[in-house]
Amino acid sequence: MTSKQAAIKVVKALQENGYQALLAGGCVRDMIMDRQAEDYDVATDAKPEQVIKLFRRTLKVGAKFGVVIVMLGDKQIEVATFRAESDYADGRHPESVHFCDARQDALRRDFTINGMFYDPVTDELIDYVNGREDLEKKTIRTIGDADERFSEDYLRMLRAVRFSTQLGFAIDAAAWEAIGKNASKITGISGERICAELEKTLVSPNRAVGAEMLIESSLAERIFPGFDEKCDQQAIKTLAHLPLKADFFLALAAFFAGCESDFACERAKILRLSRNQSKHLKFLLVNRGKLLDAQMPRADLRLIGSEEFFDDLFALESAIQKAQHPHDAAALEPLKKIKSRLVKIPKPLRPEPLVTGDDLIAIGAKPSPALGRLLNQIYRRQLEGQITTKGQAIKSAQEKLKAKKPQK
Ligand code: ATP
Ligand code: MG
Repeated sequence: MTSKQAAIKVVKALQENGYQALLAGGCVRDMIMDRQAEDYDVATDAKPEQVIKLFRRTLKVGAKFGVVIVMLGDKQIEVATFRAESDYADGRHPESVHFCDARQDALRRDFTINGMFYDPVTDELIDYVNGREDLEKKTIRTIGDADERFSEDYLRMLRAVRFSTQLGFAIDAAAWEAIGKNASKITGISGERICAELEKTLVSPNRAVGAEMLIESSLAERIFPGFDEKCDQQAIKTLAHLPLKADFFLALAAFFAGCESDFACERAKILRLSRNQSKHLKFLLVNRGKLLDAQMPRADLRLIGSEEFFDDLFALESAIQKAQHPHDAAALEPLKKIKSRLVKIPKPLRPEPLVTGDDLIAIGAKPSPALGRLLNQIYRRQLEGQITTKGQAIKSAQEKLKAKKPQK
């Protein structure tokens, strides 16, 4: 059973029990556009406790606010009672929700294209907000007065940019003007919510256009203070040269391509990235330029080539080179050389070390920072292919230890 089939089953069950039930929001937009929907949401006039009674397996995630998850097979369908308040205005749940009819539920939604309902039983589109027309005009328009709607929830500014990027639609003039006017207020929105919208914008293949909107609206500079003109042009050009499918952190690194690494990592903290995500971003930013040294020692090549995010670094460097030298194929030569050197190296790139600290202590080395350095030197010789057996590694260590002994 697909998510769509599960949602339609839920709608039918609600309708058979005398309730009004419809598919709502993003999935309706995506169905009309023949686009794969992320999730299928159901809106109904049944109250949460009535929904809970009707289905065997439910989760009361936001029942107080009118939202129940219905579980069918391995699918989870969000069933929301028609309500007048938005989900998380200013990052919080509303104090109380006011249940209402379908029309008012449509009016609380952000954009006209996101405000439609569809009845899969009668195959009827229920459009109180002119969403269909705006879909045809490829326009992102707020439901109601733009300034008012953005002031209710400033995240909607980023959502407008996100939908415009994903769908390739224009943001209508009044909405665009209101975004410019309210951009500074984006700092009142939680980093997690900002990050989620930024991610959807930057993973879209249309990301360069999205970044341009973020910059022109000044949202970029408001979210990342100090993101100046020097950053702007590099960001747009570099994003334009990423592969169509790019991970968020690769795209975020490209967005910061014109910035100093320290500045970018500091500013990215606002997004509340996990430790691993920050590490990913930092790796890409601080290693910029390294792959342009096609003659780098084999040991360094093996070490960087075996890094977890090496492929992203390679894609980032390629995009930076293309952005900075648009008509110069030679700019990509070092990267090609790096690739061809890497494929010729036997795998694994980062093998187990031939000797351990204990092996060296057994031949008389003292536990100390110098031991760590010695191990590293021997490992590099191993990666260079200069030593291939444990015996050779021990011998090499003995020579180095002897050379280091002070002359009496
Ligand atoms: P996606 O395909 O990315 O899931 P979506 O349109 O389904 O896009 P969601 O964030 O999943 O977007 O929200 C579902 C629906 O809830 C939206 O289509 C919109 O009608 C409404 N909505 C979501 N966030 C807001 C908001 N901040 N203000 C008003 N309405 C919102
Ligand atoms: Mg959705």
